[in-house]
Amino acid sequence: MSAAIQPYTLLDDEDCEARILAAREELGERLVILGHHYQRNEVFRHADFTGDSLKLSRQAAASKADYIVFCGVHFMAEVADILSRPEQVSILPDMSAGCSMADMANLQNVERAWKELSEVLNPDEMITPVTYINSAADLKSFCGEHGGIVCTSTNARHVLEWCFEQREKVLFFPDQHLGRNTGYTMDIPLDEMVVWDFDKPMGGLTVEQIQQAKIILWKGFCSVHQMFQPEQIDNFKQKYPETRVISHPESPFEVCQKSDYIGSTEYIINTIANAEAGTRWLVATELNLVNRLHEQYKHEGKNVHFMSPNVCMCSTMFRIDPQHLAWVLENLVEGHVVNQVSVPGDVAEQAKLALERMLEVSP
Ligand code: SF4
Repeated sequence: MSAAIQPYTLLDDEDCEARILAAREELGERLVILGHHYQRNEVFRHADFTGDSLKLSRQAAASKADYIVFCGVHFMAEVADILSRPEQVSILPDMSAGCSMADMANLQNVERAWKELSEVLNPDEMITPVTYINSAADLKSFCGEHGGIVCTSTNARHVLEWCFEQREKVLFFPDQHLGRNTGYTMDIPLDEMVVWDFDKPMGGLTVEQIQQAKIILWKGFCSVHQMFQPEQIDNFKQKYPETRVISHPESPFEVCQKSDYIGSTEYIINTIANAEAGTRWLVATELNLVNRLHEQYKHEGKNVHFMSPNVCMCSTMFRIDPQHLAWVLENLVEGHVVNQVSVPGDVAEQAKLALERMLEVSP
């Protein structure tokens, strides 16, 4: 029988640290721990691989490990399961670690949107569905089935270019900001990117708006990146005019427009890593990552600041704590798999198709 989580919640971080290290030693190459950039340090330091969700899943699939422990959120463990070999097992230390943005689109309301759009045009001939990787496996599967594709914040532009070679319009979910910010860099005017409000009949749009749209953006957003405001840039620059501003494309349009650089977490890390000593950076992405960059580069004379005056870390990422990590690892040592994330075969097959299309068009 597997050990229950409750006794682990009474352990302090130091005890967990020792037990995690001992379990890792015991499991050896049978285990790989993946750490997303937004994880807290007490967990992040145990990762064999660190990075964004797609990069990590691919690294895990290429490893010899039987057990993939994903320190991230639920959709990431799903992607790891979809891309892994059949004998590999994907594990999420805390099943309540979801993604509030991913939860803003579900299969039921996306299917309803597709049906409603078919009252105006033939979606299977005219619209390519695109889901951001931050979404449930059944939405990736929906895209696979309808000639659509997955994107990440790194390859969104290449994916959209591919989409417009297939069909004239795109339905982009769940993050409106990534869709809008990317579409705008492709010279698509704002009035040709309309927002589909999933709480309203016909998305709250008129027939003319749907007919004229190039991109129909789902009304979803990341609660962390939504907190950044253009005024925060203005205020900071009043004090430090030399500041370079770098933002994740999940941030609002107005923030991205005032930024010097826009890109994924990997892009943000690389840009700051390669910057000259003495530079000052204002960064719009999750707090744990920004704090880590600050610590890492202060010795090189780089100043890395978090954009918002309010603390905004990803509360669901934060659910993965040393206690849950120790719990899943010690269970594995005992031969018990707890918190396995397993995507049903038919869903995984179509989702994989949409992921493979993305990998083909990615640079
Ligand atoms: S930072 Fe935003 S998009 Fe990323 S996992 Fe958290 S809620 Fe989801």
